[in-house]
Amino acid sequence: MATTILNVSNRLPVTVGEKITKSSGGLVAALEGVAADHYALHWIGWPGAEIPPARREHVERELVHDYGCTPVFLSREETRGFYEGFSNSSIWPLLHSMPSYVRYESRWWDAYRDVNRKFADVVLSIAKPDDLVWVHDYQLMLLPRMLTEAMPSLRVGFFLHTPFPSYDIFRRHPCRSELVSGMLGADIVGFHTYSYMQHFRSVALRLLGYESEITRINHEGRSTLTGVYPIGINAQRFADELKRPEFASRRREFAANDQGKQIVLSVERMDYTKGILHRLDAIELFLNSAADRDRVKFIFISVPSREGVEDYKALREEVEARVGHINGRFATLAGSPIRFYHGSVNFTDLCALYSSSHVGLITPLTDGMNLVAKEYVAAQSDDPGVLVLSEFAGAAEELFNAVLVNPYDAQAVADAIEQALKMPADERRARIEPMRRRVMRHDARYWASSFINDLQSHRQPTEEKDGAAEARRIIAEAIASEKRIALFLDYDGTLRELERDPDAARPSSAIRALLDSLSRRPNVDLTIISGRRAEQMQAWFGDCPFGLIAEHGASERRPGPAQQWEQLDRNLSYAWKDDVLKALRAYEDSTPGTFVENKRTSLVWHYRRADPEFGKWKADTLVSELMALLANEPLVIRHGKKIVEVTAADVNKGAAVRRIIGGENYDLVVCAGDDQTDESMFRLDVPGLLTIKVGEGNTQARYRVPTPAAFRKLLNEALAGASDAGSSTRHPDAATAH
Ligand code: UDP
Repeated sequence: MATTILNVSNRLPVTVGEKITKSSGGLVAALEGVAADHYALHWIGWPGAEIPPARREHVERELVHDYGCTPVFLSREETRGFYEGFSNSSIWPLLHSMPSYVRYESRWWDAYRDVNRKFADVVLSIAKPDDLVWVHDYQLMLLPRMLTEAMPSLRVGFFLHTPFPSYDIFRRHPCRSELVSGMLGADIVGFHTYSYMQHFRSVALRLLGYESEITRINHEGRSTLTGVYPIGINAQRFADELKRPEFASRRREFAANDQGKQIVLSVERMDYTKGILHRLDAIELFLNSAADRDRVKFIFISVPSREGVEDYKALREEVEARVGHINGRFATLAGSPIRFYHGSVNFTDLCALYSSSHVGLITPLTDGMNLVAKEYVAAQSDDPGVLVLSEFAGAAEELFNAVLVNPYDAQAVADAIEQALKMPADERRARIEPMRRRVMRHDARYWASSFINDLQSHRQPTEEKDGAAEARRIIAEAIASEKRIALFLDYDGTLRELERDPDAARPSSAIRALLDSLSRRPNVDLTIISGRRAEQMQAWFGDCPFGLIAEHGASERRPGPAQQWEQLDRNLSYAWKDDVLKALRAYEDSTPGTFVENKRTSLVWHYRRADPEFGKWKADTLVSELMALLANEPLVIRHGKKIVEVTAADVNKGAAVRRIIGGENYDLVVCAGDDQTDESMFRLDVPGLLTIKVGEGNTQARYRVPTPAAFRKLLNEALAGASDAGSSTRHPDAATAH
């Protein structure tokens, strides 16, 4: 059976009135094209209007059977908070880097979460584990996490159709972390441009601390791929339309309408992101200085949009007033310079307008892609017009042969209009042709199939899970068969999740219970082996029966609360500390957010609170500097997790483990850790060694688990498995006793 694509977007591709009609948008054509050969396709979304409860069952049946759509019914109240409120008045301006338009009300956020949850419930009610789910856009940013948490085997892709702003803008939103975290629930997150993707990575790093490679963000044991997928237009529809006689006759009519004039066309939704007022400034400047202004006509097709939102109403009034002012100022007997049409036009008229205009003037202040720019290019033929395009439209990255302008620079836009109107035919052709080839080839279908193919082939790392299963089995069997086991467990990042503030990483009751169960086993010798100071370990674990090693092996407390701490480094010299401290202090001074910790046996520079990129760069330079400074000293420089540490070479966890094992004959020696300081344990050459790395990064450990939570689970399951196996080993007759 073919895999199903569940395509989830705010709006279903249908209009539900008295009767149901299907829309013919680019997305529909693209997905139907992609699905045709390889997939079954199903849509999930809001039907676009409040359907009275009495009609819902009937509408749903018809939508599912005749249109392949499952509706998410929303009340008027819900759409007000979710759609007009949170989506369009809060996140839309945020994502477009227009913070002065961002409004926020906590009840909108509640509605947004609730509606995302409703979508999740509907998707989960029909999804099968192998389905591909494609979630679209800013209205559903929480949905990917809701889906993968409930059904981890689903492959979920998320595509953002808007820009993604820089961290400095995004961090202002009250719900910033939840929004990013919601998106990261997806296996793939797609953007129109590389810079949106970069911003997203930066936000994931700075807000949530998730490190990433160029196209992969690692977090909590999962990996989310990020990708650049610039959306295209329904190219075939344009190619077909340009051949139709109706198109030719409308084109002639438009040309005759403005006989002798050069047409400059702008088409867009009435939206403050589209730069309409800035454009009017530029047009006024142009008209002011143009010698032959009567020869030019500006046509604005302004599609009504979000009229329920206050800022949109206000914008419309302001635009109409400005158009009136300019028309009043420059009107002649031959007419006025701007024809402003507030309404929609049909497809044939749109193509005829694109094709008969001399200039396409498209100057958004910011725009995820801007399909109008691509459509304008697609509608040009033998005697093409000129595209004047804002640098801040996503489309500018592909349409670099356009006359690119900064929409905030009115004079530059006025000059570009002038340049475009005078451009000779060969240059117009030379600019349009490569753009036309690109637009016709990289169309909406190409876009959809690239995304779906990547989603289809994406797999979460599974080898780690298998590794964990084997390690768990070995430990469980050893416990059950009462072999002698030594456990050396690192604490921070291994048993316990890291915290920004190290003092906050106290052991939870679950960790205490786990350590307690392990140390109760008579055949298990447990030691917690940490880089922390002895005092800290004493405060947390002093009353526990297991062994403790502090400062990477420099001090030790043998098992039993009555035991005293013992220094193991008495013969070592720490004369090197003065010079190293000076070097680290210099880095502390020049890197805000960092500090030096002076431990008895080592010096540590912590940069967890520094800007992550700056901190990492400074840490790398510090390491090189220290390597030069300390080349001949018996010291080790460790670049660990957000720390650089200098320690005596003889003090390391591996040496501590070897000393404790001593002459004992253990059947199994388990060493687990998460960072570079643990590698000295993983490199040990002792019989029965089983090594486990927690988290990402290169390692010599044999097994890997993704998170401290997964590691605790492994140990708990090993204990549980041992109990099951143990009870049957110890009572071999139990199963047959009755
Ligand atoms: N469009 C429309 N009705 C019209 C004029 C244009 O539906 O009367 C279409 C236009 O063809 C384009 C879309 O609206 O496909 C606008 O997409 P774009 O990416 O330019 O901007 P968005 O509205 O998504 O911000």
